[in-house]
Amino acid sequence: MTKKDGLLNRWDSDKFGMKWSSVFTFIFCLFLLFSCAHEEFRSPAQESAKSRHVVFDIDWTIVTEVTRESAKIPKNKRIIEVQGKHYYINEGLEEFVNEILSHPEMKVSFYSGGKKARNEELLSKIKLKNGKSLKDIAYKILNNEDLIDVPGALPEWRFSEKHKKDLSKVSKDLSELIMFDDTAHFVFEGKELQSNHVFFIGTAFEYFDNFEEARNLSGDYIPKSYEEWLLNQKKLLILQGAFKEAYEEAVDGKMSFAEAMKQKEELLNLKDHYWNEHSRRYFKMMGGRAPVQIKLPSNDCLQGMRVIMGL
Ligand SMILES: [Mg+2]
Repeated sequence: MTKKDGLLNRWDSDKFGMKWSSVFTFIFCLFLLFSCAHEEFRSPAQESAKSRHVVFDIDWTIVTEVTRESAKIPKNKRIIEVQGKHYYINEGLEEFVNEILSHPEMKVSFYSGGKKARNEELLSKIKLKNGKSLKDIAYKILNNEDLIDVPGALPEWRFSEKHKKDLSKVSKDLSELIMFDDTAHFVFEGKELQSNHVFFIGTAFEYFDNFEEARNLSGDYIPKSYEEWLLNQKKLLILQGAFKEAYEEAVDGKMSFAEAMKQKEELLNLKDHYWNEHSRRYFKMMGGRAPVQIKLPSNDCLQGMRVIMGL
């Protein structure tokens, strides 16, 4: 082989190497693009930063419609008007949302049986400390139009029996998703039981500025005692405390975020409308002072002996 042939071979070899190097670079770029687009191809480091979701129902969960004329009269800054109806922004909502959003991987969504226009107007009127509205910060807003119709439902069935919320519309991975709702069994039960991802916050009471307004009334949505009224009023603060604890447990890897929140649901037992050691603890964690309540027999004649301290 002459010196010229040797140089040509080397040049061919270099050319061949450059060609394959370009092919490898191209394949590597394709792999990166593919990995970013599909969660299932993410590395463990990327996986640890995957999104966690909190979904709020709207009516009776984050706001309470004010129906009694007398309740609208006081110039309460937390009462907003949307499409001719008045809504009280439940106490502690903005702080709770801020707490959730303080974690970069957390996303906040809203899912309501209300119409899109109403929901969006309502959420745009609730402002956080930074001036952004709940509509601005929402990951997703799902509405009446996003409910699933239950096949074979009869007209006399209740709304939440005829229509269901489908949480997979928020995220396909429900292990890191929890929804707060005042209506039990309002989610679609497919292959995966979506109710395992719903925190039932108990039936909400009507809005009363203070318990005195409700004292002489009766009904399913009227608090029977000051303690019941107070628990209803402070529910979001209690849930914020529960969220803080559950979040830490999920980050520590003890269990998924949804499992941790479901444990809190059981401990708090908000559906029974009375304070227990857990609701008192979470309320205290958020700076509140809860009443000490003695649980009495349901037919008690000792109502007058109820002990209230600290307020
Ligand atoms: Mg509701």
